Amino acid sequence: MTWKEQVVLYRRDLHRIPELAFQELKTRDYLWQHLTHLGLRPQKMGGTGLIADIAGDRPGPCVAIRADMDGLPLAEETGLPFSSEHEGAMHACGHDGHMAIVLALADRLVEDRRFPGTVRLLFQPAEERPPGGAKQMIAEGALEGVDAVYGLHLWAEFPVGVAGLKEGPMMANADQFVIRIRGQGGHGSQPEATKDAVLIAAQTVVNLQTIVSRRVRPFDAAVVTCGTIHGGHIFNIIAETAEITGTVRTFSPAVQQLIEREIERIAQRTAALYDATAEVEYQTGYPAVVNPEREVAVWTERLRGLVDVIRPEPSMGGEDFAYYLQQRPGAFLFLGAKPSEGATFPHHSPHFVIDERALPLGVEAFYRIIHA
Ligand code: MN
Repeated sequence: MTWKEQVVLYRRDLHRIPELAFQELKTRDYLWQHLTHLGLRPQKMGGTGLIADIAGDRPGPCVAIRADMDGLPLAEETGLPFSSEHEGAMHACGHDGHMAIVLALADRLVEDRRFPGTVRLLFQPAEERPPGGAKQMIAEGALEGVDAVYGLHLWAEFPVGVAGLKEGPMMANADQFVIRIRGQGGHGSQPEATKDAVLIAAQTVVNLQTIVSRRVRPFDAAVVTCGTIHGGHIFNIIAETAEITGTVRTFSPAVQQLIEREIERIAQRTAALYDATAEVEYQTGYPAVVNPEREVAVWTERLRGLVDVIRPEPSMGGEDFAYYLQQRPGAFLFLGAKPSEGATFPHHSPHFVIDERALPLGVEAFYRIIHA
């Protein structure tokens, strides 16, 4: 069987056994077995992750290739014959494909060994759930001795044969917040004796929408999303408390700090307007993925003839690959995997599918960056 067929089988095997962040034990066993079978000596790292080094046939740099390992808490509805066998878990972002690509890359590298230096395979758990696995992998030494680090994400927005790669921001800084509103509850028929937390929460959600429209410069991309709003217990009681949670996406620390300040200010002043109080808990998440210029230029050149490289708009999604790029040069690429027929569902949808013809292209894309 060729590696081009093998990569598809790896992906299907892994697709059957999705595991949530930091629970990727079966997944790691699967990777472990294949890597040791190749004669490699993997090393456990980052909770449920692992690394493995492959030596080339001559001196050279150490290049790390990263794949994330976790699935999502979703019930799969694709109807694929190799659908998830784990109830309530699904590879709905393509991480199964990322692992398969790096596994098939290992097959190729072990077989030919005609490359300089060392390749470090970096299988990282828990990309989907902040604080994420990358930070822990780095803290435990995943980048020690590494000169550059590369990663990719299968991308349902681009057709197979197209890759998105550019210098500068590729993915957003992703933060989260909680706003806790405390008013005064009471009888639904006597609003005058209460401070209605549900009303204040509603006003707060509306007021927060003025941050992006009226505080952030039009040239700076930003998102403020309120994902949940909870308050009250029954129709005829005015709620004493309410809670809002949400996410903030930005590309620069300056805009990030501006938004954090504004959320705090708006939440407190909106509550104060109704004689209530609000407390804001703001948690910074993954930083923005920012590609350096030099590595992007080199990889773009090497990808010639394999895929059409386009300069994509950055994604407002978050990725903890950002932490590696804060430590080392390298690059992150979006690899087109849009299904050629049928509807395209977004990442994180229970219907999410990829076109598997993207997988060998991913293997080759990494192979080319290693073969200087
Ligand atoms: Mn992902």
